[in-house]
Amino acid sequence: MSKQKGTIGVTTENIFPVIKKFLYSDHEIFLREIVSNAVDATQKLKTLSSKGLLNGELGDLTVRVKLDKKTITVSDRGIGMTADEIDKYINQIAFSGANEFLEKYKDDANAIIGHFGLGFYSSFMVSKKVEIITKSYQEGSKAIRWSCDGSPEFTMEECDREDRGTDIIMHIDDDCKEYLQENELDKLLKKYCQFLPVPIAFGKKKEWKDGKNVETDEDNIINNTEPLWTKTPSDVTDEDYRKFYRELYPMSDEPLFWIHLNVDFPFHLTGILYFPKIKSNLELQKNKIRLYCNQVFVTDSVEGIVPDFLTLLHGIIDSPDIPLNVSRSYLQSDANVRKISGYILKKVADRLSSIFKKDRSDFESKWDDLKIFINYGLLTEEELYDKVSKILLFKDTDGKYFTHDEYKTLISDNQTDKDKQLIYLYANDKDAQYSFISNANDRGYNVLLMDGQLDVAVIGMLEQKFGKSRFMRVDSDSIDSLIAKEDRKNDTDSSDVRMLSSVFKSRMPQIDKVEFHVEVKSLGETSQPVIITQSEYMRRMKEMADIQAGMSFYGDMPSMYSVIVNSDHPIIARISGDADSSCSAKVAPIAAELSSLRSRAAELRKEKEGKKDDEVPESVKTELSDTEKAISEKEGDEEKVYADFAQDCKIANELVDLALLQVGMLKGKALDAFIRRSIELI
Ligand code: ADP
Repeated sequence: MSKQKGTIGVTTENIFPVIKKFLYSDHEIFLREIVSNAVDATQKLKTLSSKGLLNGELGDLTVRVKLDKKTITVSDRGIGMTADEIDKYINQIAFSGANEFLEKYKDDANAIIGHFGLGFYSSFMVSKKVEIITKSYQEGSKAIRWSCDGSPEFTMEECDREDRGTDIIMHIDDDCKEYLQENELDKLLKKYCQFLPVPIAFGKKKEWKDGKNVETDEDNIINNTEPLWTKTPSDVTDEDYRKFYRELYPMSDEPLFWIHLNVDFPFHLTGILYFPKIKSNLELQKNKIRLYCNQVFVTDSVEGIVPDFLTLLHGIIDSPDIPLNVSRSYLQSDANVRKISGYILKKVADRLSSIFKKDRSDFESKWDDLKIFINYGLLTEEELYDKVSKILLFKDTDGKYFTHDEYKTLISDNQTDKDKQLIYLYANDKDAQYSFISNANDRGYNVLLMDGQLDVAVIGMLEQKFGKSRFMRVDSDSIDSLIAKEDRKNDTDSSDVRMLSSVFKSRMPQIDKVEFHVEVKSLGETSQPVIITQSEYMRRMKEMADIQAGMSFYGDMPSMYSVIVNSDHPIIARISGDADSSCSAKVAPIAAELSSLRSRAAELRKEKEGKKDDEVPESVKTELSDTEKAISEKEGDEEKVYADFAQDCKIANELVDLALLQVGMLKGKALDAFIRRSIELI
């Protein structure tokens, strides 16, 4: 054959600038494309040989990647190409509407490359010139050199080459020099080629000798040609799975357990998914699953392919049936992909159930690490609840685990309130809420420990699923009100209520973004004299605001706490007596005035009753508003008298501080004052 010249058959003016510019972000995939072509050619040769269609020996089939000063060469001993085949497969990239398509997918290199079968041409993303030297396995074939300098023009001529196979020689562009660094190339080979099914050699192994690294004769094979997921699960030991995990994620802790995926129908999928130990930050853990297509690395962002919560898992999914070269939004709507997602969800649920059934104590020992996946799953995948409801565990503050059915049986007698609601008490910090927990335990109540990152977030959904059930944090109300067994009537005298509220209100500290609301309740002699609680609802909203965008409204609101003063407690009764005797002289005249003002206000309101605003005489309106003003002034005077008393009432101050201490709100100067006062009192 004489030297040929020709133009590569693309309809677009010049494909190369397009490839270079538009595929900028994904330049590095050229290596995957060229090496996997070499692997394909080798696999095809093996197939031919196994069918008896190959004359001669297979010989060494290692694919070799060689780095020179200015070139990267990928060589194989696969089937090679004849001149006709080059013409057909390389020269005629025939496609229509190319410009339009390129414009549409210019940011998605995978889509373009896949669509055009541009695999080989991706080498031009990084090369100013590419040469192919190839000789077909077919008998009598001539070796061919093809060369193209990045314009649509190529040359093709016969050349010398002894052996069958192909060299792709890439003359690397000046602005892509990073690929000529050994480290960089090594990194990319490991990323894309780590599990290719044919050995890939990158230079020779090195050895430390006489103070320097010298090359040995041994090939530096960078891949594992038979990764664990391609094996039959029954042939694989636990240690193999752990070892493979370390190979994939050298920096991670041992996995909790794993699932070997292996499906033939209705799609092909193999892989191994690991449940890792999650330490802290959820986001950091995402995107650890790697997606492969016939052992070729494709991506490590698998959103849309596996259910969202499983993106927290680690491992490998390998499927030739996932359309890899399309855009992500297309992927998510693909029927196959949806089936895959459903399949994986089911597999995971089945595996969890089987561990639970086989070895409950093993399951329990893993539960604390495992529950974050389940919780995340419950929050994002509605269907999951039914699949795992039987194996959801609840852990109490003593470290015992229960299924939901077991737990219901345990608490239903004692923790059902007057409205027949089952009350699940929980703590999220065993130490901080210690005294609330022990109060509850004294009543015979069980308290759950819900201290996981997402535990509180799933409470709302569990309440819905359980029906007639409520979760209450142990410190969200006084113990009697947490699980209200009967309607309690408050028999504390109303002037006593005013007195006690005034005394305690005046002693609450000023804390930024915190509001205290004092309530006087009769809780029985044995309940604590003063406790501080935060309503379950408010706290939950604030907690959700911390983990969820769009709820900052709650986050910015002040935290509201209830200060519950137990009028039945003997110490409170004593304070009440003291306040009465030391303040009555001052309060009596104010109280007398208040009482007459109040009855006058009541009369005036009665006059207004049932009348439209313009029917009410001006004089009545004015007097009522004056009276109301006078009442609030007098109330202020009354409060002031009690506040003066409270300031010097050591016991009231002590009780407030104890209550603050119990919820971790007594700090700094206030804590110091408390300690001094306590010593004095002792
Ligand atoms: P694809 O691999 O998607 O078909 P490519 O552009 O990467 O697209 O390659 C086009 C064709 O060129 C391949 O299908 C194959 O027939 C041929 N080819 C590419 N590289 C090699 C090689 N190293 N050995 C033999 N044939 C090759």
